Amino acid sequence: MGRAFVYVILGGGVAAGYAALEFTRKGVSPGELCIISEEPVAPYERPALSKGFLLPESPARLPSFHTCVGANEERLTPKWYKEHGIELVLGTRVKSVDVRRKKLLTATGETISYKILLIATGARALKLEEFGVDGSEAENVCYLRDLADANGLVNVMQSCSSGNAVVIGGGYIGMECAASLAINKINVTLVFPEVHCMARLFTPKIASYYEEYYQSKGVKFVKGTVLTSFEFDSSGKVMAVNLRDGSQLPADLVVVGIGIRPNTSLFEGQLTLEKGGIKVNGKMQTSNDSVYAVGDVAAFPVKLFGETRRLEHVDSARKSAKHAVAAIMEPKKSGEFDYLPFFYSRVFGLSWQFYGDNVGEAVHFGDYSSGTFGAYWISKGHLVGSFLEGGTKEEYEAIAKATSLKPPVEDLAELGRQGLNFALTI
Ligand code: FAD
Ligand code: NDP
Repeated sequence: MGRAFVYVILGGGVAAGYAALEFTRKGVSPGELCIISEEPVAPYERPALSKGFLLPESPARLPSFHTCVGANEERLTPKWYKEHGIELVLGTRVKSVDVRRKKLLTATGETISYKILLIATGARALKLEEFGVDGSEAENVCYLRDLADANGLVNVMQSCSSGNAVVIGGGYIGMECAASLAINKINVTLVFPEVHCMARLFTPKIASYYEEYYQSKGVKFVKGTVLTSFEFDSSGKVMAVNLRDGSQLPADLVVVGIGIRPNTSLFEGQLTLEKGGIKVNGKMQTSNDSVYAVGDVAAFPVKLFGETRRLEHVDSARKSAKHAVAAIMEPKKSGEFDYLPFFYSRVFGLSWQFYGDNVGEAVHFGDYSSGTFGAYWISKGHLVGSFLEGGTKEEYEAIAKATSLKPPVEDLAELGRQGLNFALTI
């Protein structure tokens, strides 16, 4: 025995919220759609957790950042789901899925069947133990993936005001959390293995701008090394971290942001996987006709680059969800997903956007001391990627448009001289 729905969304994060809104716009009837989520709250804008949620003054709290406020759409509170006859099964982990029989089994023992399944299980944070370091369970070692993690981080942060934080990882979580902790007047040291921060996206020149800015806010950088072990006090709290270079840093709080793994395990052996995610076509449909996948977990064809990619960013989660629902509800009308990769971050008073792909040769432009600067990436004679810090709305729109057009570029020095004007006049 169990319940049956026409549409089931597995996972209750960003993509689930945007998919729900699109389902209602496409005319789903009350009682047809169900969302099952391990989290105890309705879908929310995850990016808020490393930004507004951690602020010392007027921090963001639910219900203010339920989806879909992040894209200036309606805010979907639990009441909204009720009014639309959408069943929210919260605080419930799905422990197995039988794709052939179209059934899910929850950890509470309920069987839920579907006609169409939308997988939106996102990803989990990688643990230090996966790199051979024990101690993640200590109460002052924090990860940041969901609301429970964010509440935990705020509690530890408040208990160590003016204390020392060590942030492990120089990627998105590391950079955003380091900034938020510094705003909370905590002494922050950022530790990562690469030669500069955001190594997968930033050039050394871009990175040095942000590193100098962070240093001006009191953040210290320890580069080219990794954490090897913790020192604990008698209550099991971490007191210090030991690094591979032999040094030791005192720590009242440790934040770990060392990457993620997509939550694919329920589907291994049932669906085709690629690039660590669930492979989908341009309609976000998996190797099983009745199953679609969106967001962090989906590996989809990026038309612009002619290859399959998995993107771990909110804009892709929102748009892939919307596209999948259109493909499900209006299969004849909907085309192939045509997506321009878009990443952004906001820290302190800074704000950058990136569009496209950071391959090929980077051409920097603008005045790096003025706060408005950027870079283009040129591959095989064409513009493929654009980065801009401190731009206006129009300028960001211009670099997005220019990147999507992939214009030919012959003279890199001239492109550097033209700078933003190149995108603004295209
Ligand atoms: P998620 O939002 O992670 O949702 C997955 C959901 O599935 C969760 O609710 C999870 O509990 C549930 N789930 C998983 N497995 C099961 C199961 N077996 N049973 C039931 N439920 C399950 N991106 C940006 O572009 N800009 C940003 O500024 C930005 N900031 C971020 C800040 C933080 C702190 C984090 C963690 C991420 C940030 N991201 C940002 C990335 C962005 O949030 C993700 O790309 C986006 O959330 C992906 O959406 P999703 O729906 O695929 O997955
Ligand atoms: P990232 O992949 O951005 O960064 C992980 C960083 O940790 C990399 O610098 C990585 O180095 C480094 N690292 C890996 N292993 C170790 C180790 N053992 N010790 C120290 N450093 C290590 O992941 P995050 O955890 O920062 O972010 C998690 C997810 O959240 C991502 O999907 C991200 O996109 C998302 N997010 C996005 C934001 C945004 O878009 N603004 C904001 C916050 C989160 P290496 O490159 O060598 O592996």
